[in-house]
Amino acid sequence: MGSATEKFRIVIAGGGIAGLATAIALRAPNRQITVLERSRMLGEVGALISLQPNATKIVEKWGIDKFLEQAEPMPDRTFRIYNVEGQMVRKMALEKETFGADRMLYHRQDLHKGLLDAATSPDLPGPPAVVRTSSPVADCDPEAGTVTLQGGETLEADLIVGADGIHSEVRTAVLSEERRAIPTGISAYRLLIPFENLKDLVLPEKMIESKAIEGSTTMIMGHDKRVIMGPGRGGKVFGVVALVPDEKMNEESSTSSWVEAGSRQKLMESYADFPDWLKNIFAAAPDIALWQLRDIDPLPTWTKGRVILVGDAAHAMLPTQGQGASQSVEDAEALRAFFKNVPAAGTGSRPNADEITSALQSVFAARYERASLIQLYSRQQARPATDGKTSNTVTLDPAQFMKYNCDYEGAEDWLARQRAKSSE
Ligand SMILES: Cc1cc2nc3c(=O)[nH]c(=O)nc-3n(C[C@H](O)[C@H](O)[C@H](O)COP(=O)(O)OP(=O)(O)OC[C@H]3O[C@@H](n4cnc5c(N)ncnc54)[C@H](O)[C@@H]3O)c2cc1C
Repeated sequence: MGSATEKFRIVIAGGGIAGLATAIALRAPNRQITVLERSRMLGEVGALISLQPNATKIVEKWGIDKFLEQAEPMPDRTFRIYNVEGQMVRKMALEKETFGADRMLYHRQDLHKGLLDAATSPDLPGPPAVVRTSSPVADCDPEAGTVTLQGGETLEADLIVGADGIHSEVRTAVLSEERRAIPTGISAYRLLIPFENLKDLVLPEKMIESKAIEGSTTMIMGHDKRVIMGPGRGGKVFGVVALVPDEKMNEESSTSSWVEAGSRQKLMESYADFPDWLKNIFAAAPDIALWQLRDIDPLPTWTKGRVILVGDAAHAMLPTQGQGASQSVEDAEALRAFFKNVPAAGTGSRPNADEITSALQSVFAARYERASLIQLYSRQQARPATDGKTSNTVTLDPAQFMKYNCDYEGAEDWLARQRAKSSE
């Protein structure tokens, strides 16, 4: 047991969205939080990202609005789906009343910066997290509670959170074996276009509102291809993700690389039988990135000794439901919930190993089934979007899983609901 004057030491490996959300969620008096980030944190990937209603509900309770508002997030009000012929075939209103909160559209860099500012701000309860950049974690010992950096330095911690992404090193220590990310056979072209470049294009009605204060998401689907697009940064940019099966993407190096520059010509060829207005959007992009999508199978466990995995390290998933970041926020909330009374009152300021392990088991019990199911749903959503018989019958319905995804009120409530169900 620790002495009354020592702080509860928490080390988080990885300063991405999962790591920073965890740092915010775990902030409390007498805790010392250190985030070890491999990169110099100079540039998150430039792309749009959404926080789904299930995650918006959580961050709204953290009191970090002033940090996230700098990111000029935009509520997404409508989802429209078009077929290859350019006809709208489905429309879904994204009302706060239906899903409990807004689906918010962010630029990844801005969301990351907002979370970083909140994690390190003196204005929130508990000491600000210390973020150490250029600090790659090479190994960790879950039972001893130590993390070793590539340079050889070893840090001791009461609790270690592995938030080091899809290629996690901490995961290897938890599982005692390496689990590699699996190429999913799908690649994504990513385009980020200044709104200015789109103003003279003829686009479907209401696809881009003249005053883009509120967002809307447009999908166009055909066969095994689909494009998802919408505004970001308060309407200054327009983000496009165009999915293509690897074998059809006409980019030779697609299987050997993770993120690289994509060819506009190849993108146009892949979408040759889609409407001209879509190709005009592709033509308006200053540059095009290419990203091979990978995920992992559900892991046998996320926790061992003093360590737990969160975010992509625990459950990397395809972006077809836009739940990757939101599931990371749910992980962070679960840690906050099950550690709120750790260490137990009157037992000193540092929890013992049993208290840590027991709280981590509760986090895992609350989170595993749901996150694994959303991982699998995201794979299902990646199936061809049309029925294969006629070119324009869109069979895929993104609304299908919205109810399950958004009907979430935090980890303690979820665990209680699961227990009630199993005792029925
Ligand atoms: C371009 C792009 C677009 C995306 N779009 C969406 C979207 O629209 N909706 C959505 O929900 N999800 C999206 N995702 C996925 C989403 O970003 C992730 O699921 C989510 O951010 C959780 O990420 P993470 O923090 O677990 O991992 P990451 O974002 O990968 O962060 C991991 C961090 O750990 C650091 N790190 C790695 N190894 C080490 C190490 N050994 N030591 C120390 N630090 C280390 C990395 O540098 C990184 O900063 C997208 C991802 C990308 C890349």
